[in-house]
Amino acid sequence: MNKVNQQVSNFIPAELQNLLDSASSSVSQILSNALFGNEISEDDGTVLFSCRDNEKVTDRSAIFAVADILRRRRNGDYVTFVVNRNINFTNICYMGCRFCGFAKRKEEAGSEWLEPAQVVERAQRAWDRGGTEVCIQGGLHPKMEGSYYRELILAIKASLPDMHIHAFSPFEVWYGSVKSKMSYRDFLSDLKDCGLGSMPGTAAEILDTEVRQKLTKNKLSAQCWEEIIRTAHDIGIPSTATIMYGHVDEPKHWSAHIALLREIQRDTGGFTELVPLSFVHTDSPLFLNNPNLVRPGPTDHEVDLMHSVSRIMLNGFIDNIQVSWTKLGAARARDMLSLGVNDLGGTLMNESISRSAGSKYGQEITASELCEIIRSTGRTPVRRNTVYKTIDIFKDHDPIEVAPLVERNSDPLNFLKMFPETVK
Ligand code: SF4
Repeated sequence: MNKVNQQVSNFIPAELQNLLDSASSSVSQILSNALFGNEISEDDGTVLFSCRDNEKVTDRSAIFAVADILRRRRNGDYVTFVVNRNINFTNICYMGCRFCGFAKRKEEAGSEWLEPAQVVERAQRAWDRGGTEVCIQGGLHPKMEGSYYRELILAIKASLPDMHIHAFSPFEVWYGSVKSKMSYRDFLSDLKDCGLGSMPGTAAEILDTEVRQKLTKNKLSAQCWEEIIRTAHDIGIPSTATIMYGHVDEPKHWSAHIALLREIQRDTGGFTELVPLSFVHTDSPLFLNNPNLVRPGPTDHEVDLMHSVSRIMLNGFIDNIQVSWTKLGAARARDMLSLGVNDLGGTLMNESISRSAGSKYGQEITASELCEIIRSTGRTPVRRNTVYKTIDIFKDHDPIEVAPLVERNSDPLNFLKMFPETVK
């Protein structure tokens, strides 16, 4: 046992110590460092992300165990979720991001545009079902006015002053600023004054110029994404952080991306969570047109590593690592709870972006169902608001049952039958 491992062994469980002792020396050293609460470098992150599933099994097990311990230190045994509704006000978009299965041309069947009053109607329905947040994003419609974004917020706030509005990706903020001939700062300040509560940190994909050119023809550069996010944080609009992986990317890109998020967080403290988003290839032009060059989404092993290594790299910076059930399904989302994840995201009610790209995991998982998934792991469900304030801890009671907003073809909790002792 080396000196660092000897010191670490004074405060870590024997089982984990055994895993560290039998892992390869580079991985063991990095993980020991992380357990001491030290920041691991971008190169260290690449080493962990590069761990293969067919090599030293103990390396993987050690990474997962350390991620789980760091998660417990930060979040205890609570697993959080938010009751929210996803509203996409338009899918009309001419930007042509190659990975996108959501965008449609105006004349295409299934194209949609919602006026602010229609969005308010959907938000009201969400409020009536107990929702505290609407998550609003849309395509970049060529004819829309830059003022649409503020009008939408004002209309929702006029009817539902207490509804949290989590809206508009940095790409939409860029578009609205350009259309309104305003600086990012002025545009965002105005949205904040209208009632914008926070922003999704989507459109980040992978913050690497070369990768972005393949994905989006560099429509929104990595520098521009960072500038908009830093500006939002600076004026008091928090945001989530995301990474979309499993296409033309590699471990070194993941590590650089997470390290950059960490740098932004060090300066601004404005990220509420990281949400890894696996690339859904099924109906994505990026994959369909280049099946030999583009991977069909991440492997299971890569999904496991993404959640656990992100937890380790962001330790002490971003406390909440969320799994996206809409990308992975409820069963795999449950698996992530033992790999560094402490948040199951939202009920969504009306998910459509992943569904358009071919995801088959439905539009909604209700609060009661999320609680059931969480309890099946022995942890305690907690309902939170968008910025992670606790609303209810479900220790000895359940959320009010509500029927799904859109009828479902299958029960998302079917998989829990594999764990009969946990099913109510
Ligand atoms: S990802 Fe967004 S901006 Fe790009 S084509 Fe799709 S809807 Fe448009």
